[in-house]
Amino acid sequence: MFRAFFKPPPEEPPPIVGDPPLEWVDVCALMDWLARPEAPLCAHAYKDTIHFLLDHALPVDPVLRWLRARGGYCDCKVLLDVGGKFPGKYC
Ligand SMILES: [Zn+2]
Repeated sequence: MFRAFFKPPPEEPPPIVGDPPLEWVDVCALMDWLARPEAPLCAHAYKDTIHFLLDHALPVDPVLRWLRARGGYCDCKVLLDVGGKFPGKYC
């Protein structure tokens, strides 16, 4: 009887594979920013990542989709799982 009230969540847009929707130099700057010594503990959200993207006028949604496709589901995962996967690709 609750089915009538259940609305499925909107479909997640497909992940972006391949090269990032921003320059590699910006990927590098994002990783540096997330790794800064005074960074707050990860709140398991994209707080710092979004802050950085907005500050640098970078496209938030495409970048988050690109990060999610690589296991970067929050600020600390972006740094560890995405940053660690491209040795030598940036910086
Ligand atoms: Zn986290």
